[in-house]
Amino acid sequence: MAATQTARVDLEALRASVRALCARFDDAYWRELDARREYPEAFVQALTEAGYLAALIPEEYGGAGLGITEASVILEEINRAGGNAGACHAQMYTMGTILRHGSPEQKARYLPEIAAGRLRLQAFGVTEPTTGSDTTHLKTTAVRRGDRYVINGQKVFISRVQHSDMMLLLARTTPLEAVRRRSEGLSVFLVDLREAVGRGLSVQPLRTMMNHETNALFFDNVEVPAENLIGEEGQGFRYILDGMNAERILIAAECVGDGYWFIDRATRYAKERVVFGRPIGQNQGIAFPLARAWANVRAADLMRFEAAARFDRGEPCGAEANVAKLLASEASWEAANVAVQTYGGYGFVADMDIERKFRETRLYQVAPISTNLILAYVAEHVLGLPRSY
Ligand SMILES: Cc1cc2nc3c(=O)[nH]c(=O)nc-3n(C[C@H](O)[C@H](O)[C@H](O)COP(=O)(O)OP(=O)(O)OC[C@H]3O[C@@H](n4cnc5c(N)ncnc54)[C@H](O)[C@@H]3O)c2cc1C
Repeated sequence: MAATQTARVDLEALRASVRALCARFDDAYWRELDARREYPEAFVQALTEAGYLAALIPEEYGGAGLGITEASVILEEINRAGGNAGACHAQMYTMGTILRHGSPEQKARYLPEIAAGRLRLQAFGVTEPTTGSDTTHLKTTAVRRGDRYVINGQKVFISRVQHSDMMLLLARTTPLEAVRRRSEGLSVFLVDLREAVGRGLSVQPLRTMMNHETNALFFDNVEVPAENLIGEEGQGFRYILDGMNAERILIAAECVGDGYWFIDRATRYAKERVVFGRPIGQNQGIAFPLARAWANVRAADLMRFEAAARFDRGEPCGAEANVAKLLASEASWEAANVAVQTYGGYGFVADMDIERKFRETRLYQVAPISTNLILAYVAEHVLGLPRSY
């Protein structure tokens, strides 16, 4: 991978400005949306207007031209402030597939619109109900007919579809039996949701543990113009893999933000809550789990910066990006658990916000890739062990 030219900014100044924006959206804002299962539209709009969601788009297309390091700090700060960057993080990185593999016309047409916030490309359709983590066996097909592709199949857990104008879709264009390697014959398309929904594409919302807009999608002869194919037909799996390191690093940063948030809140509570005539934090049974959780979040934080630095230098970072996400998602979950224990009964009360963030941070050991699949990657690609699946 060639080194990318990215602008550098002072990370502390960046943190301070994101924090100032987040301060306008307090705990009650996120809590009430959670209760109503609503999208944080006002927050996403403010973030868009401030240009943060265009952080990774090069300046020539109207973005900020920043690196993954800076982008990760933006998302970390959102979660560290008690918010949930998962509502919009994909607007930052989904465009990377167009940037790296799109034609000059596609880049000129879409990137400035995304950078300006006039176009939302934050839906990304890979997972299918029958194949799950086994992506290369996915069954959705795209068949070329003249100047269009006709798409049939199903996807599941496709997030933000109802708050996105376009979706990046992975579908099979050459049957599995006709390719040499199962990773071949898959292609990436830009699907204009404004045209497709109701014209063959049905969207069935799925209610999940947390406030996260995700959906089952059904494609029944959905037509997509051939010009919406990204890159070369049949090479789509490779294009998707190219974007995964960025996604892993950014989500690791969100988990780091969550982890620090839990520890900040629980530490504050442990100092204030007096039982048996002393602050509960004076008991090592409360203090040590908090200290250990901090140690693990801090270690994951460093791995995130290591992965991000390698990414920004254009060096291979598959192992570091995957391990950053693995460690950070486990550290944030540990911190979440410790926070609940520290708060005692109040950890379960919605007004304290701990239980909401507890539900939110749990996702990242499963999506966008589960912990076992990361361990399988490390076993095979770092340790050289035989492939297990
Ligand atoms: C809220 C939410 C939002 C999501 N958003 C999106 C999205 O926007 N776009 C998208 O494409 N997908 C999305 N996903 C899907 C997500 O990426 C998948 O849930 C995830 O990749 C796991 O796939 P699965 O759920 O089918 O689990 P499965 O593949 O069925 O796996 C189930 C369990 O078995 C384990 N397992 C499977 N195979 C092996 C093996 N060989 N070795 C060891 N363990 C194994 C897994 O680790 C996992 O723990 C989302 C999921 C959720 C819950």
